[in-house]
Amino acid sequence: MLNKTELENRIIPYKMLYESVTSTYELIEGILPDHGIPSLRIGLKLLKSVMEEYIQKAREGLPIIGHHFSFPTEYLSCFECVPVCIEAVSYLLAALLPHGSEPYYDLITNWGHPFHTCTSQKGTMGMTLDDLFKFDAIITPTAPCDNTYASYPFFSYYKKIPVIAPDLPFLKEEKSYYYHGEQIKIGIEQLGKIINQEPDYEKLRKAIELENQVSKMKLEIFELKKAKPCPVENMFNAMSAAAAIYFSGRAENVNYYNDMLKIAKTRYKNNEHHGGEEKVRSIWPYMIIFFDLELGEWLDRHLGMSILFDIFNYNFAEPINTKSDLDTMLYGMAKKSMEAPMVKQSAEFYYSFIDQCVQLAKDYSADCFIFTSHIGCKQFGSVPQILREALRDEVGIPMLLIDVDVGDARFASEKIIREKIKMFAQTLM
Ligand code: SF4
Repeated sequence: MLNKTELENRIIPYKMLYESVTSTYELIEGILPDHGIPSLRIGLKLLKSVMEEYIQKAREGLPIIGHHFSFPTEYLSCFECVPVCIEAVSYLLAALLPHGSEPYYDLITNWGHPFHTCTSQKGTMGMTLDDLFKFDAIITPTAPCDNTYASYPFFSYYKKIPVIAPDLPFLKEEKSYYYHGEQIKIGIEQLGKIINQEPDYEKLRKAIELENQVSKMKLEIFELKKAKPCPVENMFNAMSAAAAIYFSGRAENVNYYNDMLKIAKTRYKNNEHHGGEEKVRSIWPYMIIFFDLELGEWLDRHLGMSILFDIFNYNFAEPINTKSDLDTMLYGMAKKSMEAPMVKQSAEFYYSFIDQCVQLAKDYSADCFIFTSHIGCKQFGSVPQILREALRDEVGIPMLLIDVDVGDARFASEKIIREKIKMFAQTLM
C-alpha cells in the first residue's frame, strides 16, 4: 500500500508544473500593471487551481491516464482519474522552465530513441523513463503523425504500460466518423476495464456541453480578429493551447473564454491594440515557439506584429449533438477529433490545408505568414514551398520559413528566431 507522498509522486512533472505556474503567476501579479497581458494572468490563475486539483487526486490514489492530444482531455471526464496529456507536459515545461524539457529529451535519446523525432513526445517519454510519471494506462488514436505511431510503443514495450490505440482513419467522410466514434467507445471501455471503472457517459455529456459553449465563444473571438487592429493579444494563442488541454470539459474553460471575449469586445469598440500600434498582421499556420513564451508579447510590443492564428487556434469546430443518443454524440466527438488542430492538417493530403490558409489570409487581411518547420513533423516537410507559392500567387503576400524545434532551444535559439522575424518584418514595412 502506497502512502500519500508515494501516490503523489506518480506525477512529479505535474508538481514541477504546479511550482512553475505558481511562481510565474506570482511574478505577473507582482510586477505587471492591472491590465497587463490578461490572457496570461487569467489563464495561469485557472491553471494553478487545475494543477492543484490533479495533484490532490493523485494523492487520493486515482489512476494516472496518459493521453495524446488527439484524444481530447474531456473524453476522460467519464472516469475518476488524473489525465496527463503526453505532448502538453513536454511543451508547457519548455515554456515555463529555463532549459524546459531538454534534460528529458536527452535521456530518451541516450536510451536509443531517434533524436529527430517530435520533442512533444520525447519530453514525457524521458520523464517516464526516469520514473517521474507512473501511468496506469495510456490512450492514443493512431494519429496524427509517424512520430505518434513510432513513439508510443516505448511505453508498452519498455515500461509495460497498457497502451490503447483507437483507430483514426484518414478519409474525412461520414462512414469514417461512425467508425472512429465506435473506436472511441471501444477505447473508453477497454480503459475502464484496466482501471476498474465503469465509464460515466452522463458526466462525459456534461463535459461536452461545456466544450460546446466554448466553441461558440471561440467563433466570436475569431470574428473579432478580422478587425484592424486585432483586439486579441498574441499571448492568447499560447494560453488557449494550454486551455484546450488543461481546462477541457471544465467550467474553467468557459470562464477563460468568457473573460477573453469580454476583453476582446472592449478593445474592438475602442479600436485598441494590446501592443500600442498594429503594423503587421501575421498568421502562423503551424506552431508557435513553445520554449520562448515571451515571443508573442515581444512581437506585439516591439514589432507591432499580431499573430492572428497558430495551428492550435484556427479550429472552427461545430457543436456536438448531446441531446440525442450515445451513438450520435460519439459521431460528433469523432468528427470533432478528426478535424481538431494538427490532426486535421497532418492526417490528410495538403490540398485542404493550402486552401484554408489562402482563405484565412483573405478573410483576416493577413500581411504575411510565418511557417515554423518543426523537425519532428516530417509529414509536413514538403508543404512550405507549395504554401509560399499559393500565398504569393493567390493573395500576394510573403511567407517566412523558420527551421526549428518548437520545444528545444538548442536547434534554433530564441535570438536567431527573433533576428529572422525582425529582418523579415523590415521588408514588410
Ligand atoms: S504532428 Fe508534428 S508536432 Fe504534432 S505530434 Fe506529430 S510530429 Fe509532433
